[in-house]
Amino acid sequence: MQAIRAGFVGLGAMGWSMAAHLHQRGLLAAVANRSRDKAERFAAGHAGVVAAGVDTIAQNCNVIALCVSADADVLGVSRAIAANAAPGTVVVDHSTVSSTTARAAAELLRAAAGDFVDAPVSGGVEGAKNGKLSVMAGGDVATVERVRPVLDAYAARVTHMGPVGAGQNTKAVNQVLIAGIAQAVTEGLALGEALGLDPAALLPTLGAGAAGNWFLEKRGATMLANQFSVGFKLGLLHKDLGIVRELALAAGTDRSVIEKSLADYAELMARGHADEDISALIRLKRPQV
Ligand code: NAP
Repeated sequence: MQAIRAGFVGLGAMGWSMAAHLHQRGLLAAVANRSRDKAERFAAGHAGVVAAGVDTIAQNCNVIALCVSADADVLGVSRAIAANAAPGTVVVDHSTVSSTTARAAAELLRAAAGDFVDAPVSGGVEGAKNGKLSVMAGGDVATVERVRPVLDAYAARVTHMGPVGAGQNTKAVNQVLIAGIAQAVTEGLALGEALGLDPAALLPTLGAGAAGNWFLEKRGATMLANQFSVGFKLGLLHKDLGIVRELALAAGTDRSVIEKSLADYAELMARGHADEDISALIRLKRPQV
């Protein structure tokens, strides 16, 4: 089997750190990003890595990981890779998109004698930085095994969930939990704040008991200090929940958390907060003046 020459497309809050882990493992040959300056900055700081266009990456790399924004980006990049790649090239997509998009991208790659794995991730920017992401993979077993050294560079756990699309369906379930936990934690902490409870005592007390969770631990103190610059842009969660809504509608399951969260994040986006972390939801939980 050919040695892996990896490329990475999408050097944002998640992708930058994931690409850096690939570089550390000696697997990364080239990077690309929509705004070219980011790719050039990355290449300047990581010896041996070149900043390139997607077409050049497709010609020179045999495993290409993506962590771009939304469905149209995954389809556009996959189309460009399929048009330029050698047979056997595998695209591994870490973006959160619909399972329909994942299957369409897989068709593009397979028509070019390549293959595709949908591999959305959970663990936040901290998980990407520490190389401790949970990867939910969909694709042929042999293809997932082929790209395993790439996934292992930034994953604490890789789970093969089924054929292409199964990774994104798993991520959709994950996003319902993310949205619900954000609703509960922001509402609870807004109440604690209004009752005058000291955050220095409140946060560790909550965290030590049955209410403890990742979001409270990582975002509790920052949201109470009105710092919303880190993490997961709420505009991206709004995009994810649109995908989740379609799945829940088709499945006929309850959508209370999904609809409430869609409405809340739409309100925050209308107020100009789309690029803030999802913990900015606390803005709507505080007494409205
Ligand atoms: P981000 O910070 O907005 O980064 C997205 C990056 O992708 C940007 O650098 C952007 O370039 C680049 N990009 C977008 N479209 C592109 C295209 N067509 N071609 C090349 N590059 C393109 O977002 P993120 O937080 O890293 O999230 C990326 C994906 O992972 C999203 O689907 C998100 O839902 C998912 N995700 C995020 C988290 C999280 O905690 N942040 C966790 C799990 C999954 P520009 O510099 O030009 O904008």
